[in-house]
Amino acid sequence: MRKISLDKINQLFAEISSKSSLYIPVDTAAGAKFEKYDGTKTMSDALNTVRSAKDFFFPQTENMVDFKVEGKNIEIVEPVNEYEDFVVFGVRACDVKSFEILDRVFLADPVDNFYKNRREHGIIVSMACTKPAETCFCGTFGIDAASPAGDIVCHKTDDTLYLDAKTEKGAQLLDSLNALTEETDSSAVDAQKAKTAEIMKKLPLAGLDASAFGADKTMEFFNAPEWKELSEACLGCGTCTFVCPTCQCYDIKDFSTGHEVKRFRCWDSCMYSDFTRMAHGNIRNSQLERFRQRFMHKLVYYPTNNEGIFGCVGCGRCLAKCPINMNIVKVMKKLGGNK
Ligand code: SF4
Ligand code: SF4
Repeated sequence: MRKISLDKINQLFAEISSKSSLYIPVDTAAGAKFEKYDGTKTMSDALNTVRSAKDFFFPQTENMVDFKVEGKNIEIVEPVNEYEDFVVFGVRACDVKSFEILDRVFLADPVDNFYKNRREHGIIVSMACTKPAETCFCGTFGIDAASPAGDIVCHKTDDTLYLDAKTEKGAQLLDSLNALTEETDSSAVDAQKAKTAEIMKKLPLAGLDASAFGADKTMEFFNAPEWKELSEACLGCGTCTFVCPTCQCYDIKDFSTGHEVKRFRCWDSCMYSDFTRMAHGNIRNSQLERFRQRFMHKLVYYPTNNEGIFGCVGCGRCLAKCPINMNIVKVMKKLGGNK
């Protein structure tokens, strides 16, 4: 394990950004967001970014292919995507776990090369939580906020940043910073972890239990009468899906510029009325069906197809952002017998 005084954190950022693009969470009027480090930015102390770090690997819009039309000839032009190495600094434990959930979708056959290239070029430097919010429930899904995964795992105290490499990529990056950091033992980090564990135990959602859900429970929940009441007020705004680090649905559209057609993909939401619309019409015609789809996917369908792993990481974003105060916790409580 290495450490560096927080006084020198900008030197650390400058050194990392001299080799590859570096993104850090910064405060903005709209809350914390990841921005490219340019020597002038200060790292945010916010618990988490408004939008998750999934944008780095699965951006909101992405050009996939261009068609140049000349008379009756169509030339297919693959966009040249220059994927450069980049470092995302300060990713929280829940969001690091979300990459595993996305990997199982985008890296399964057929592999999504856009996503794969970005994953291969990205280095994740995670940041342990010390002040979790009342909306956090990562522990429900076995995530330890005080011990995130990542290529390098960081713990920040009042005056020091501790860095521990967990992968080969992380070790290479950390070794390259040896002139700025010094070797240390794990005693301060261990003390912080113990303190955070005590705080986590006292969170309002600490006892939330997902065990009623999981693989092969479709028939148990699909026709539950509770969906009616749960979905009644849903506006179908899609906010919950757009802030969610694990939502992965997208649409593919063509856009004509006049002399060429651009085919791009963009995030979509299962909460939208035209989602899954096909030639014959839509398979989910009511908001109840669309609402049920979102939560069944996270709590039952994803685990069914992924060895029991849930499709939620308990980040709490949907709890904080839904305009009608509906969220996955309320669904779990109503359907799963949680208090
Ligand atoms: S469903 Fe809500 S709590 Fe779960 S990962 Fe998505 S935004 Fe976070
Ligand atoms: S659950 Fe809330 S955030 Fe999600 S679509 Fe419905 S109203 Fe919007």
